[in-house]
Amino acid sequence: MDIKKYYLDANALLEGHFLLSSGNHSNYYLQSAKVLENPKIAEILAQELANAIIKYNIKVDCVCSPALGGILAGYELARALGVRFIFTERVNGVMNLRRGFNINIDEKIIICEDIITTGGSALESAKCVESFGAKIVAFAALANRGFCKRVDSNITSKIECKLPNNIPFFALEDFIFEMFSPSECPICKSGSIAIKPGSRGN
Ligand code: ZN
Repeated sequence: MDIKKYYLDANALLEGHFLLSSGNHSNYYLQSAKVLENPKIAEILAQELANAIIKYNIKVDCVCSPALGGILAGYELARALGVRFIFTERVNGVMNLRRGFNINIDEKIIICEDIITTGGSALESAKCVESFGAKIVAFAALANRGFCKRVDSNITSKIECKLPNNIPFFALEDFIFEMFSPSECPICKSGSIAIKPGSRGN
């Protein structure tokens, strides 16, 4: 399955000259929400992710996503796995379980994001549901930015990765982009000016 093609076709994988929030420049940018704009595509991608999880015989009762970014991917993954779905959200900066969602003791939960960069929000979501007695059986994302090692990929975890290395992490694809400091950016040297992704009519 050509995951990158789905992202390109949905304008979720942008090529150009981008100023990232880190201050670095890159010639690619992932606009994750765009690939989920079409529910049929979301369904296909989530089914592919579910297949990988089922193949590894991971037993799961529930999918949980950190709001807002992970919700669509997590909901579709829960549908594909035939389990329930909940989400955590930040209240005054702290990840919380609200809206009447309950967790059973020892309930097996997969934390799902649309994209994992360092996995910070996914980890916060995991800690939140663990505090209610859940057991985290896997982390999952449609896209992996290449900082964390995922099942079926030979990239190694970088120091920035916050996901625990004793719990499997499933993703469809690694999206590893070269980043440049502005002073050393070869695209700048060619005369082009970096733009903030989304700054052209969002
Ligand atoms: Zn540049």
